[in-house]
Formats: sequence, C-alpha cells, structure tokens
Amino acid sequence: MDQVVNLIFHNQCLRSYIEVDLCAICPRQDEKGCCALYSPVFYPTDFAYLLLHRRSLIDKIFQLDHPTVLDASVTANHDIDGESFLCAFHSRESGCLLPQEFRESICRHFVCSGIGWWQEESLQHWHHFFESLTDYEIELNNRISAELAELGLSLRNPGSRQDFFSALLPIYQREIASKPAFFHDVPEIESVKLVRPLRFGKDWEL
Ligand code: SF4
Ligand code: SF4
Repeated sequence: MDQVVNLIFHNQCLRSYIEVDLCAICPRQDEKGCCALYSPVFYPTDFAYLLLHRRSLIDKIFQLDHPTVLDASVTANHDIDGESFLCAFHSRESGCLLPQEFRESICRHFVCSGIGWWQEESLQHWHHFFESLTDYEIELNNRISAELAELGLSLRNPGSRQDFFSALLPIYQREIASKPAFFHDVPEIESVKLVRPLRFGKDWEL
C-alpha cells in the first residue's frame, strides 16, 4: 500500500526542524513511533534557547524522575513501557508535548528510514543542510562546554547551576553572532510530497 507523505522542512538556523504528517498515523502502530526508543539529550545551545524563550522547561527537565546530569548536558531518560519505552514528553494521544522549537536536535531532525527523504535527488540541499547543521551544533556545544568548564561551572552541582546558566547566555550570544554560510543554502521553508510503500508494526524501519 502506497502512502503520500507530506514533509515540511524549516530552516530556523539552530532551531531548524522537519515536520512529517505521517507521524500522526505512524505505521509502527504503537502510539509512540520512533519516540519509543529515544531519550532526549539537552545541550548548551538548547539550554540557552530555553533560557531566552521557555525558562520553565529547564526547571521541568531537572525535576524529572531520573535525568542523567553531566557537566553540560542533561538526558531526560525514558521509562520502560511494555516492550519499549516512554519518553517523559510523550503523550499517546497527541505525540510530543513540546513545540518543535523547544525540542533538542535529534527530536527536531529525525525522520525514520521508512520515509528516507534523504535518498531523493531533489532534496540533497536539505540533506547537506542538516548534515552541516549537526556538525556545526556538535562543534558549537563542545566549544561552549569547554569554556564553561574553564570557568569551573558544571550542571552536576545544583548549587552552581544558576551561575552556569548566567555564564552560558553571553557565550551563546557571542558564538551565534556570526552565522555559518550554509544557513543561507536552503529556503526558510519548503514543502514536499513523497510516495512511500507502507509496512506496519516492527516492519516499519526506524
Ligand atoms: S517512526 Fe517515522 S512516521 Fe513514525 S513517528 Fe517516527 S518519524 Fe514519524
Ligand atoms: S522529546 Fe518529543 S520528539 Fe523527542 S523523544 Fe520525547 S516525545 Fe519524542
């Protein structure tokens, strides 16, 4: 059975994301789709964005039952749920509870192999964009983390978290002041339709 899949690519620089209409009726048919196997990890660029736009979500991340807190990142660990897992931000009824811009990178960029949009010749500009963005974001987070570590700041210490976030913002704003050239290689938004053969349950490739 073939299905028309609508994708919308959004170039929002560091907060870029991909919307997929098939997710609402995910062929995995377990009400969780790819979110059943992932625990989101928030890095300095995510925290800086949340500090500017949704501070309360940072508090919520630290208040989760069993996050993994490292020097400059926090993993919102999923819970065991049947044969798979349940993300702390997932709702069976409505999917992810976080608006796209507040999700971390994997959650904003990931599209399953069953759709495999990156194999399309006509979408290579977006393929290159998201690969470049991933590399850029890793390097940027490594640089910011190293600078915070040099200041002796770590998220592991609850007593110094406020100092960590106070120091993070100016470093982040300085770092993003000059934008990499690839940010201009794709439009702000592009919608595409792909036709894909559906398989169901675990036969649908993540
Ligand atoms: S597995 Fe694919 S269709 Fe299902 S929720 Fe994930 S990206 Fe969407
Ligand atoms: S944060 Fe949202 S998109 Fe990411 S794994 Fe959890 S429910 Fe899925």
